[in-house]
Amino acid sequence: MTDIKLTRRVTSIRESPSTAANQKARDLKAEGRDILDLTVGEPDFDTPDSIKDVGIKAIQDGETKYTPVNGSIALRNAIQHDFGKRLGIEFGHDQISVGGGGKQIIFVAMMATVEEGDEVIIPAPYWVSYPDMVIANGGTPVIVPCSEEAGFKLTPDTLEAAITPSSRWLILNTPSNPTGAAYTPDELVALGEVLLRHPQVHILCDEIYDRIWFADYDVKSIASMVPDLLERTLVVNGVSKSYAMTGWRIGYGVGPVKLIGAINKLQSQMSSCPSSISQAAAAAALVGDQSSIEACVAAYKQRRDHAVEMINAIPELSCLSPDGAFYLFPSCAGVIGKTTPDGKVIENDLDFVLYLLDGVGVASVHGAAYGVEPHFRISTATSMQTIEAACDRIAQACAALT
Ligand code: PLP
Repeated sequence: MTDIKLTRRVTSIRESPSTAANQKARDLKAEGRDILDLTVGEPDFDTPDSIKDVGIKAIQDGETKYTPVNGSIALRNAIQHDFGKRLGIEFGHDQISVGGGGKQIIFVAMMATVEEGDEVIIPAPYWVSYPDMVIANGGTPVIVPCSEEAGFKLTPDTLEAAITPSSRWLILNTPSNPTGAAYTPDELVALGEVLLRHPQVHILCDEIYDRIWFADYDVKSIASMVPDLLERTLVVNGVSKSYAMTGWRIGYGVGPVKLIGAINKLQSQMSSCPSSISQAAAAAALVGDQSSIEACVAAYKQRRDHAVEMINAIPELSCLSPDGAFYLFPSCAGVIGKTTPDGKVIENDLDFVLYLLDGVGVASVHGAAYGVEPHFRISTATSMQTIEAACDRIAQACAALT
């Protein structure tokens, strides 16, 4: 049999560990196991009916053809409106690229700008896809650990120390997956001051969770806090998480004309454009009534509060209360070195996560997958009932350790 030869681009990257953990939870459920799944990276809410209706109408009205590569005029108008209203940033239609999810925009941005020898600074804990996207495009991820004491956030000193003449990008994800940590306006300004000294570094602000926001001040982007960086900043956002539209696959990047032009050129050879129907629905989501989001955010906040309280009541675990997104990233340092009822020593966070899965049927993702251990990520994009039951089981599992 002829073997298919794969490129180094493919063989050097991994399948997403969170997708793998989610698949394992689904497989076990399908086998009939009683699994409480906290691995999910998407809202448990359905897309609001008002948005679905626009998608249906787009089909009926014949909006079923290719759109411009960089997105329909209606969607780019809606993105302009949203960025202007929420972040106070003005930009032209030639500074927007719409793609099949924020993920695609980030990948293509790397493809357009990163070559052998280029470094991309990635604060850890990081979204699992960033390092692999950099590696797939020939670059070198430079992982900068951010401690729990620093709120899992990059400080000006750690950023300064990570920058070299080969630094091409800093990826800032706020609020973050997996920690939910978000940078305050002052923290963004302080990072901006460092970046202004290093013009070779571009800034990729992944703000995909910025509407899932619990703090008592308005969410801020480095792009609006440090306007002098705008000429080298790409802001990435999308409708997946905020509007419960993960399957519609619409994300976008806003940035300098030259970079957006390069992204569009690659997209023109890759996908021609994202789904016209999804674009119509996404435009309606951005400009329409926002009350459905408000209800979801209120639910995520309640779940966060309850889960943080329950986890912090477990002596071996501790958890910060994040300002946004729908994840928690508790420390499990207190279980390391302990022994499970069937005699296994828990040596790291993967052992702990496997113990929770096998022992009490709770699925989560180990911290090492996100570059910081010993931690584990739990998603609160699931019902309060599941969260409560899962936290009870985690408490029982910890109590059974010796
Ligand atoms: N950025 C982060 C931090 C994410 O967690 C995700 C999805 O999990 C994305 C970007 C991409 O989302 P989408 O491609 O659905 O827009």
